[in-house]
Amino acid sequence: MKPDVIIAGAGIGGLACALCLEKQGFTTLILEKFHAPAEVGAGIQLGPNAFHILKHLGLEPELTKQAQFPEKIVMYDGKSGAALAHMPLIPHMQQRHNAPYAVIHRADLHKTLRSQVENSSRIELKYSSALDAFTEEDGNVVVKTVGGEEFCARVLVGADGSRSTVRQQVLGDGPPQFTGQVAWRTVVRRDRVAEMFQAQQTGLWLGHRAHLVHYPVSSGQLLNIVAIIESPDPPHGWSTCGNRDELLPRFENWAKPAYTLLQQVPEWRTWALYDRSPAPVWGSGQVTLLGDAAHPMLPFLAQGGAMAIEDAWILAGFLKNNLGNPQAALRAYETLRTTRTGRVSETARDNATLFHLSGHQRLLRNMAMKASRAAPGLLLRKYDWLYGYNALDEV
Ligand SMILES: Cc1cc2nc3c(=O)[nH]c(=O)nc-3n(C[C@H](O)[C@H](O)[C@H](O)COP(=O)(O)OP(=O)(O)OC[C@H]3O[C@@H](n4cnc5c(N)ncnc54)[C@H](O)[C@@H]3O)c2cc1C
Repeated sequence: MKPDVIIAGAGIGGLACALCLEKQGFTTLILEKFHAPAEVGAGIQLGPNAFHILKHLGLEPELTKQAQFPEKIVMYDGKSGAALAHMPLIPHMQQRHNAPYAVIHRADLHKTLRSQVENSSRIELKYSSALDAFTEEDGNVVVKTVGGEEFCARVLVGADGSRSTVRQQVLGDGPPQFTGQVAWRTVVRRDRVAEMFQAQQTGLWLGHRAHLVHYPVSSGQLLNIVAIIESPDPPHGWSTCGNRDELLPRFENWAKPAYTLLQQVPEWRTWALYDRSPAPVWGSGQVTLLGDAAHPMLPFLAQGGAMAIEDAWILAGFLKNNLGNPQAALRAYETLRTTRTGRVSETARDNATLFHLSGHQRLLRNMAMKASRAAPGLLLRKYDWLYGYNALDEV
């Protein structure tokens, strides 16, 4: 049977999109290039703005089993180890935004989304089906896979990641830009690390041309660690093994707890980080983009996945409200989403500067952060625009 929508890509964005479309009564075919599910062995933070939608999709009970709910986000100075400021999360996120701030292993999030997809009679998920090209004919989009299969639907959504094939056919704007930042990621057993890293919190350590993030995942069994360093060259390939002898010298002048934590890690994987300047247009005709395909961004606001989930709900809502005119629905979706995702993307870029300051600028930043302790609600208010956004209210 012809589905209403074809989605290229079964990442967090593609799976969430299929579930949101199902909620609005649509049928979907997801085409995934890999032959089996694949998610990175690392964590992801989910602000209340993403959690609202996951909850609305009925995923809260399953997510709550695996997710952790940090009490606060604590910011440290990497060099001195001093705690500069903290953003309280419990109970403030729930009280302020009616949803929690969660952290979870990506494989757990992906599996939860996938199980719901696989249990749905309205969604078909095909692996080993890389989209190659598409054409628009008689009010339909005809999609061709690399293997030569053809599928047809009213709408095509490119949720095929930052190197999106769909984007290249729609916009032809080349690959995303290397940002000069490389992420080193790992998970370690939480009972093997120093006590301060066993606290129920997200830690963010700020340093010269580098920063460090950690939080618990996998029902609290594991600690997710991400070390970001500035580097002129991207590592070869996507998600390659990292040699810790390259990483450790970048942190040897850091406070002892942070350096000792990194020393304890035997294995790392590295990701070169790419982004794009926000684009005013994401689609044409009955084709659009979602998630990293539309707006790859630096992870320094921990919002790329959340933006994909928000995109998914908004897209499904606009399609529902414009059944007879999918082109109008897609353009309305893009107009709304380019504004919000553009702001998030720019703020993530600003954080790249703020997190990595040195010299006088570092001292000024630290003073400002310490001053914010006098008004504990200040940091929460600063991010109301981000976490207080509820896509469910939008359409
Ligand atoms: C270090 C790091 C930390 C991060 N931390 C956070 C965080 O804390 N919170 C947060 O919200 N976000 C975070 N992000 C961002 C988040 O991971 C991404 O924004 C999110 O995973 C994007 O999901 P997506 O589905 O759009 O793309 P992807 O996850 O890239 O999925 C794309 C899918 O499309 C498939 N595909 C590709 N080409 C084709 C094709 N031609 N045909 C069919 N299928 C295809 C791929 O195989 C893949 O399955 C982080 C990112 C990094 C790098």
